[in-house]
Amino acid sequence: MGGTFDPVHHGHLVAASEVQARFNLDEVVFVPTGQPWQKGEREVSPAEDRYLMTVIATASNPRFSVSRVDIDRSGPTYTVDTLQDLRAKRPDAELFFITGADALAQILSWRDAEKLFGLAHFIGVTRPGYTLDDHHLPDGSVSLVEVPAMAISSTACRDRVALGEPVWYLVPDGVVQYIQKRNLYADRTIGCQSE
Ligand code: ATP
Ligand code: MG
Repeated sequence: MGGTFDPVHHGHLVAASEVQARFNLDEVVFVPTGQPWQKGEREVSPAEDRYLMTVIATASNPRFSVSRVDIDRSGPTYTVDTLQDLRAKRPDAELFFITGADALAQILSWRDAEKLFGLAHFIGVTRPGYTLDDHHLPDGSVSLVEVPAMAISSTACRDRVALGEPVWYLVPDGVVQYIQKRNLYADRTIGCQSE
């Protein structure tokens, strides 16, 4: 499951858990992006902070892990590179790429879109406020999964922190504490969306 995870929140975790159970996956690997090429509008928190928050959030689930492939590769993150790197580390694994409805909508604009479908099976999860539309996707390459609706976004979490509002229970407790400890999102432009 790729994402900026700035910060990781319970929407991400519920989606990952639901797909893990539905497809009986051995492992869900969270892959925080490097410098996100589609997020030019705002400054993204340091990769190491996003990585550590993701580790904290996933630590208690034996089926969840976090990969550094994207943050250790220089330059912008392309999903084709992510999948090739994960494939190299797990040559025998069957790969599934979990992504949200909003990201899935952009999938055909991604670099090497056709190649992507050969590298992994794509799973699009529902997300409140976004509709899933599989009209333009190649047959059989994408599954759509309905997950319990969690109207949480990282943007909303960042805005709440900037306004001094609580993010308890929107993100895992350890992530709340990490945000405080590192003083993340304290002074930012409110409502600055990533895409
Ligand atoms: P931002 O507001 O900064 O864009 P985000 O909440 O969209 O952050 P991302 O890191 O961009 O989080 O998301 C990673 C993936 O998780 C995306 O594919 C996104 O669609 C999906 N996702 C994010 N929030 C939810 C949610 N509440 N329910 C289902 N999927 C989600
Ligand atoms: Mg997003």
